[in-house]
Formats: sequence, C-alpha cells, structure tokens
Amino acid sequence: MTQISETLPDDDGNRFAAAEDLNQYRIAQAQFDRAAAHLPDLAPGLADWLRRTSRVITVEFPIETEDGSVKTFTGYRAVHNRVRGPGKGGIRYHPDVTEDEVRALASWMTWKCAVADVPFGGAKGGVVCDPKILTFNDLRKITRRYIVGLGDNIGPHTDIPAPDVNTDANTMAWIYDTYEMMHPGTNSLPVVTGKPIGMGGSLGRREATARGCLNVTMHALGRGVLPGHNRLDGMRVVIQGFGNAGSIAAELFAKAGAKIVGISDSTSGAYNEHGLDPDAAIAHKERTRSLAGLKNAEAITNEELLALPCDILIPAAFENQIREDNVDAISAKLIVEAANGPTTPGADRALMQRGIPVIPDILANSGGVTVSYYEWVQNIENQEWTETDVNQKLKAKMERATDAVLEMHRGIEKARGEREPADIRTAAV
Ligand code: NAD
Repeated sequence: MTQISETLPDDDGNRFAAAEDLNQYRIAQAQFDRAAAHLPDLAPGLADWLRRTSRVITVEFPIETEDGSVKTFTGYRAVHNRVRGPGKGGIRYHPDVTEDEVRALASWMTWKCAVADVPFGGAKGGVVCDPKILTFNDLRKITRRYIVGLGDNIGPHTDIPAPDVNTDANTMAWIYDTYEMMHPGTNSLPVVTGKPIGMGGSLGRREATARGCLNVTMHALGRGVLPGHNRLDGMRVVIQGFGNAGSIAAELFAKAGAKIVGISDSTSGAYNEHGLDPDAAIAHKERTRSLAGLKNAEAITNEELLALPCDILIPAAFENQIREDNVDAISAKLIVEAANGPTTPGADRALMQRGIPVIPDILANSGGVTVSYYEWVQNIENQEWTETDVNQKLKAKMERATDAVLEMHRGIEKARGEREPADIRTAAV
C-alpha cells in the first residue's frame, strides 16, 4: 500500500511528521492501492494499469478578453479508463486546476460509474482560469476554444463532458453548440450532459448530485451506518460549499426533516444552532453572490464551520478540506462527501480510528453522473422522461449502489476480524 504521509529523520536523527502529501492524483492512486490489497488475484501488472490515467490532452489557446487584451489559457481533458464505456466526467473552471487534479478526478469518475453501475468510464476536464474575474463573454469564448481544441477527442460515444465547479447548464449549451457546428447533420445532443432543459437537458439533472446524496444518506442511515441514528429527521447538518451540490443539498436535506445549522461558500460561513433557512440563503446568495451578511445567522470562518458539532458534515466544495492538520477538530458523527476528494488518506485514517464513518464521494455524489446517464439515454432515444420518473429511477439506483458498497464493507470487516475496522471508501473503490 502506498503510504502518503511518512515520518522523516532530522539532522539529529529525531523523526518528525512530514507534511501530508496533498497531490490528488497520488491520493487517488493510494486509495486504489488500498482497495487492490483486498484483491489477491489481481495481477500486479493489471493493477498498475488500473491505477493510471490512460490519456491526458493539454490544449493551449488564446482568446481576446473583453478588456481588449489577448490571453492564453490552458485546458486539460483526462480519460482514466474506458473499459466500462465512454469516458464521462465534468469540466471545471478554476485557477487551481492542474493536470494531476484532472487525472485524480477522472480516476474517481471511473470508480463512481462502476459503483452507480452506469455504463461509462472515467474522464474529467478543466481550464485554468478565474471565472470571478472573467466576463460571461470571456467564458463563452474560452469554452468554445477549449472544445475546438479537444476536437474529436470528445464525442457521444467516446468521452462525454458535464458540469463541475464553476460550470453550469449555460457552459454545457456552448459545448453542445460548438461540437454541433463541427458535426452538422448528426445528433450531437449526447456529446454533453447537464444541458438546459430546452436544449436536450434532463429534468432532475440540476438537482441530481444533491438528491442522490440525500438518497444515499437516508438509505445508509436506515441500514445502520451510524448506530443509534436510523433517520435523518431532526439531525443537525453542516454543509461546506454553496454551489450546485451544496445549496441544493441544503434545500433537500431540510425538506427531508434535517436541520441545516451551518453553511459556507468561498467568501463566508453562516451558523445558526436553531437552523438556517436554505431558501433564504439561496436567495441572498443569488442577490449578493456571497453568503456574507446572511440574516439570522452568525458569520463564521470555513475552519470554524468544519469544526461545528453536528450529526452530519457534508463537504460540497473542493478536495483536501479535511486533512491531518484539521481532522482532530471535526466534531461530526458522520461525513457524507458531496464534493470529490474532500478527505485526505491521513484524515480518513484518523476518522476511522475515532469511529466516524465517511460515506465516500464515489458513492455519495454519484447521483450527478447517474442522471447524466439518463440524459444521454434520452438524447439517443429522442425521449423526454418526467421529473418523477427520473427521480424514482435515481432513488432506486442510489439505494442499490449503497447496498452494494455497504455489503462489500461488511465483507471486508468480516474478513479482517472485529479488531481491524475498514473504511467504506476502500469497499467502494
Ligand atoms: P459550484 O461551482 O457550483 O460550487 C462550488 C461552491 O464551493 C461555491 O459555493 C464556492 O463558493 C464554494 N467554495 C469554494 N471554495 C470554498 C472553500 N474554500 N470553502 C467553502 N466553500 C468554498 O460547484 P459544484 O458543482 O457544486 O461542485 C462542488 C463539488 O461537488 C466539487 O468537488 C465537484 O467535483 C463535486 N461534484 C459536482 C457535481 C455536479 O453535478 N455539479 C457532481 C459530482 C460531484
């Protein structure tokens, strides 16, 4: 098994803890190695292939930004593995996007599609840019040039993008339109999912990541993942990140009877021990583009938010939020990862030792790719499913995936004996 953090000797031979390695790709590979250790029949050469990304494309392209200057941007698209079907995975716009981050996210997509049992492989893309300082038109040009640069490396049956951080239905419409212009006369709708409803998008896709997260959480609670807490009703929930995944999770978890006591975005955190109103928070964020100044809430920092005592903590922002250096402050009873990669291997170990279960990203947020699959099927078959139909199918799939992962987890724990607990992530991978 790959050891991510280690102790190193100093000049006097004293050992000290090296800083935790936060490289997402090495983290993903370490998670794979940990799971592969439970598969003695997996040939080492095959394992070596399965832990790597099979392809990464880099494109560099200029656009004339609205201020009249010409700027060059870098974009990546990684395919981890396509054995189970075409590559599938979101596109992220963020200044911190790196090739290794995209490789990691693509790996998690492969395992997620397998967990959700949708016939896709894993892929992911990103453009290094800061949407906060770019205009709508700049983002449109970036999207079009990025897609032209990728050319036929994406396609309805090869690699199918979707939304991720800082991209949305609008971005997906630009992707579709650009690809369609390059392939006139064919049905290009299935080249991308998460499109606007009027342009071949699926009802329920916008809410799917959060809804799937809710389905998984309720089902896992019902199956006893958190002894003594079988129902979500009345549970105190804290959510980090208030975008597509986080804000809709706040809405849906509250509707299902939970009390949302803490929320945050990149600018601010908000806390109320008696419960926040998610709809008011969404309206406030839409109006001011920030959670700062939210009424009936105490302003807190993100570090304080992660440390809030609660029943369920839902990281829904970025990777590496719960790490060795802050895990001791976590006071949640259960962690449900709506974000990809929010918990580092060091933090995973510490949480396991403290008996705090983590429902891992590749299960907890697999609702997004599941409804992306439904959108792809509807596009290919020229069908339009009702929202009720989509949500019912999603719930059944999330419950089956949760059952499969928890069964696998039980099997691993049984094989190891009661004295050696295993984490749910290893079972999912
Ligand atoms: P988004 O861009 O809609 O929202 C991201 C949110 O995180 C924003 O509210 C932003 O302000 C907040 N944020 C950024 N930095 C933060 C910080 N340091 N602390 C607290 N909040 C911070 O993105 P999204 O689509 O909601 O994606 C969030 C996570 O969910 C990502 O890890 C993404 O990969 C994962 N995910 C998204 C989908 C999807 O369908 N959109 C599907 C599966 C997984």
